[in-house]
Amino acid sequence: MLYRVEGLVIRSTDYGEGNKIITLLTPTYGKQGVVVRGAKKLKSRYGALAQLFTYGDFSYYKSGTLGNLNSGEILESFHELREGLEGPAYAAYAAELTDRAINDDEAAAYLFHQLKACQTALAEGKDPQIVLRAYEMKIVNAAGYAPLLDECVSCGKSQGPFRFSAIAGGALCLQCRHRDPSALELEETVWKLLRVFSALDLRRLGNITVRESSKRQLQLAMRRWMDTHLNLVLKSRNFLDQWEKYGDMLGERMKRPEPSAKPEEAGDGTV
Ligand SMILES: [Zn+2]
Repeated sequence: MLYRVEGLVIRSTDYGEGNKIITLLTPTYGKQGVVVRGAKKLKSRYGALAQLFTYGDFSYYKSGTLGNLNSGEILESFHELREGLEGPAYAAYAAELTDRAINDDEAAAYLFHQLKACQTALAEGKDPQIVLRAYEMKIVNAAGYAPLLDECVSCGKSQGPFRFSAIAGGALCLQCRHRDPSALELEETVWKLLRVFSALDLRRLGNITVRESSKRQLQLAMRRWMDTHLNLVLKSRNFLDQWEKYGDMLGERMKRPEPSAKPEEAGDGTV
């Protein structure tokens, strides 16, 4: 049977002599594996089509589990996401997360549009620490693990303050916090962002300016949540972690006062 679908390439691996197998996220058929013959050959018409992040129109024959590309056309190459070191790492993380966290039957049209919006936002240079956290929230929602953020998961109280508990399933009020001693205390901004991300259609994500400390907390909260509920080891995340640690080191070195400075002298607005 011949299929014709729009899709985003969320995985691209070498296969045999000069071929590639790509995994597409499609709005109509969920995830689809397609063999692109000769994709690695220099003169291949479809080499670019088989690259990670490509948004294209794909025609393929399929009888078993894998399709065989018949023809295709690039609708948007997302070439910006392949430039530099950092950009590809963020986009690769979004792609790998989608590939690993989402079962075929969970990949509906909505998620396709969310990933496309995520790639677009990254390509436009929006803050990856915001874009990716919002996309992570879309992923956990699609996978069926949305956190409860508006009321205490234990007693239903809707009045904060709350702690954020991955194990308990979201917000825990102060009376119920003993249920998870490791629950996180988050800034009000971070709670707000978590709630916004949960309801947000990424196609409508604007430019948000968020303090570094809030971004750090946001990352920690989403990390805890995903580690508890999805439990994935992602190659791209390990790379990003190392990258960000390196970035932190540079940033810290510039921001921190010299070690010899007395603590009370550090209160000059750098903290
Ligand atoms: Zn409670």
